[in-house]
Amino acid sequence: MLSSDRFDVEKYIKNIDAEIFGIDLHWLPHVHGAFNIARVIKRIHPNSKILMGGFSASYFSEDIMLNNQSVDFILAGDFVEKQLVTLMKSIESNGNLEYVPNLWYRKDLKIHHNSPLKDPNPTDAVFIDYSILIKNAIRYHDIKGHIPYYSWIKNPTGMTLIQRGCQFNCGFCGGSNYAYKNKYFENSPVRRDPKRVVEEIEIVQDTINAPVFIAGDLNQAGKEYYMQVFREIKERGIDLPLLTEYFVPPGSRIFSGTI
Ligand code: SF4
Repeated sequence: MLSSDRFDVEKYIKNIDAEIFGIDLHWLPHVHGAFNIARVIKRIHPNSKILMGGFSASYFSEDIMLNNQSVDFILAGDFVEKQLVTLMKSIESNGNLEYVPNLWYRKDLKIHHNSPLKDPNPTDAVFIDYSILIKNAIRYHDIKGHIPYYSWIKNPTGMTLIQRGCQFNCGFCGGSNYAYKNKYFENSPVRRDPKRVVEEIEIVQDTINAPVFIAGDLNQAGKEYYMQVFREIKERGIDLPLLTEYFVPPGSRIFSGTI
């Protein structure tokens, strides 16, 4: 859309044949686009279902289900990867939605909401695999449709994240510790296994060989955690520029003499 004035949204959507369209409604800047795209999809594919997810979709799930008939489902909360698979299987088989955790849906003119999944290992289904992005771009003959941002072809970066949720409570933030624990998942933050994080970085090296942004404050995760990340990086022979973020300035020890 950004790279061509001639990009025709409706034509693009018409060419997609899918039973379910998933729309990300995470931060509030997504609101305008998310609901308008939902309306366009519903007009063009009235028999397809529209699923929303993300922090804002979760926080306002009841309002959305009450006021937006284009939206059929919301998977509310974080860590809904497994629930998405359950939803797809249930639609493919019997259409029985009452056993899909975290799901908001309509039945018999009523809005229903299923309890969230009790998941002791929520991070095991989280994995950002850039090789899938490349494979899908080739399989569907659609490179531009798979790139994460406009200038990615010229200036690619990979991304991994060390945690979901946050330890801080910035008053303006819908993803804060308080918001997360009350609306999205029972704990916050939930750290990922450092090995899995570095495995993702290695895949970036093997596929797009670009700098990697490590989202989440490594220093706040503690010395044991960041040392394990750096050790894994070294042992796997990863040699990429890494971009790190810090919510509180770290001491100089994190940058020197630790590896
Ligand atoms: S540090 Fe970032 S994610 Fe955490 S509460 Fe503040 S703004 Fe939100």
